[in-house]
Amino acid sequence: MTLSPAMPVDGPSGPGGLRPDQLAALHRRITGWFAETARDLPWRETRCSPWGVLVSEIMLQQTPVVRVLPVWREWLERWPTPAGLAGEPAGEAVRSWGRLGYPRRALRLHAAAAAIVRDHAGEVPGDYTELLALPGVGSYTAAAVAAFAFGRRETVVDTNIRRVHARLVSGVALPSPSLNAAEMRLAAELLPDDVGTSVRWNAAVMELGALVCTARAPKCAECPVRNSCAWLAAGEPPPSYAPKGQAWHGTDRQVRGAVIAVLRLADAPVPAEMFQREPADLGFAATGIGVPLSALHRLNSAPEQLERAIAGLLGDGLAELHQGGYRLPA
Ligand code: SF4
Repeated sequence: MTLSPAMPVDGPSGPGGLRPDQLAALHRRITGWFAETARDLPWRETRCSPWGVLVSEIMLQQTPVVRVLPVWREWLERWPTPAGLAGEPAGEAVRSWGRLGYPRRALRLHAAAAAIVRDHAGEVPGDYTELLALPGVGSYTAAAVAAFAFGRRETVVDTNIRRVHARLVSGVALPSPSLNAAEMRLAAELLPDDVGTSVRWNAAVMELGALVCTARAPKCAECPVRNSCAWLAAGEPPPSYAPKGQAWHGTDRQVRGAVIAVLRLADAPVPAEMFQREPADLGFAATGIGVPLSALHRLNSAPEQLERAIAGLLGDGLAELHQGGYRLPA
C-alpha cells in the first residue's frame, strides 16, 4: 500500500491527516525496520541497568554514539551504581568525561547520582516526574529513561525524532528551530497506544533519524517509509531557514576544552601563568601534562580570551582556585 499524507484521504483522519490504518502501517514499518537493523548498543541490552541508560542518555546529548561508547563503558565499569559516582569528588566525573565535550554534563550526572542516593535509596526512579526532578535531567531525558529503562509509554522527542516527524508527516525539510507545542502534540498523537510498541516506536524513530533520515543527506532510497513520506511527496522542498552551525575553532568553548584537558592530567593545582607560556619554556617534556599544555598554547588565544575561559570554568563549577592554582572541583 502506498501511503501519502499529502494525498486526500477518505474517512476520519488523525495526526498529520493520517487515517488510523495509515498510522498503524507507519508503526509496523518503522518498528519492523528497527527490529532488523538496529545497532547493537550496550545501553539497549535488557541487562543494562536504569543507571546505565541514564548515563547513556546524558552522554549522547549532542555527541555521536561512536565517541560515547568507550567513555560510557569506562564509567559503568568504574561506577556501576549511582552510589559509586556520588561517593567520589565531582572533579573525578569531569576528569573521566574524556573528550565528550560539554563537560557540565559530568557535573550534572554527579549531582543526579547524589540526589538518587539521597532521595531514592540509590535506585534510579522510574517515574517521569521523579526523573525530571533530578538535577540536570530535562523533559527529553526523563521521558527517554522512563521509556527505555522502565518500559513506560512516554512521548520521547529528540532532534532525530523531530526531524523524522517534520519530513515524514509535516512535509517540511526541518523542524522549527526550537521545539514547540504543536510538535509535542503531533509526537504524542503519533505514539502507539500499546505500551510495548510505544517503547519500540520511540527507539525506532530515533534510530531512523540517526541512520537514514539524517540532517544533511537523508538516504530516502533506504527508508522503510519512503512511499509514505510527505516531504518526498511534496517534491523535497528546501528548508525555510539555514540551520545554525556550531562554531568551534577559535571559540571560548575550544579554549575551555583545552584548559580542562590540562586540569584533567594535572596532579596539583596549575598556576595561571602556566596556561600562557610555551610548555618547553616551563621545562615540560612533550609527554604527560606537557601534551595538553602544548595544545592549549597552539591555540594562540588572546590573554583576555584565556581569562574569560578560566572565569567561565570557575563560574560553572568545572574548576576551582586552590593554593594559587586551578584544579578540577574537589
Ligand atoms: S523518505 Fe527520506 S525524508 Fe522521508 S522519512 Fe524517509 S529518509 Fe526521511
